[in-house]
Amino acid sequence: MLNIALFGPPGSGKGTQSKYLIEKYNLAYISTGDLLRAELAAGSDLGKQVKAVMDAGNLVSDELIVQILEKKIKSLENVKGILFDGFPRNLVQAYILTGLFSKLNTELTCMISLEVSEDELMGRMLKRAEIEGRSDDKPETIRNRFKQYREKTQPVEGFYEEIGKCYKVDGLGTIDEIFDRICEVIDRL
Ligand code: AMP
Repeated sequence: MLNIALFGPPGSGKGTQSKYLIEKYNLAYISTGDLLRAELAAGSDLGKQVKAVMDAGNLVSDELIVQILEKKIKSLENVKGILFDGFPRNLVQAYILTGLFSKLNTELTCMISLEVSEDELMGRMLKRAEIEGRSDDKPETIRNRFKQYREKTQPVEGFYEEIGKCYKVDGLGTIDEIFDRICEVIDRL
């Protein structure tokens, strides 16, 4: 299996690149953010529990993330690999992912980290807020999401660096340029 965790700060283009990657490599796609937004839209109990946390730009508890992940993974059949977008978001989740893959008798192939400066990202996120109107794209929420990223998510990169699975990719440029850089990494593996 080709299992990839796409990593990077909010607004770094993970969602956009994911769409192209799952098509090219025929992968199942798991975005914990999308799964949570689907729960919100459905007005489920879980959705109600996470709304305030997401609106503030904080991380949802690991227990709830495991619940939605297990539900999603159970629904997958005959997949060639999985692309994770927005997961793992902290070190506990990195260990959870290792456990999940071992249950599936497979392992993470690589973690690809999109590198973009915070200044560039802030501009992109504010623009996205205008277009998509996501409730967690308000300036103060965006700032908190970056803070959460620096404090809780950034250490995950070190975890994968230590085991030789972290590949950094320049996240500045056109969508095609960035996609080519990511594919180069995957194809080398
Ligand atoms: P995203 O679409 O990945 O930027 O996620 C949007 C929001 O969903 C985040 O700001 C968090 O509140 C929540 N979220 C998404 N994925 C996770 C995760 N793996 N762990 C905790 N919270 C998450």
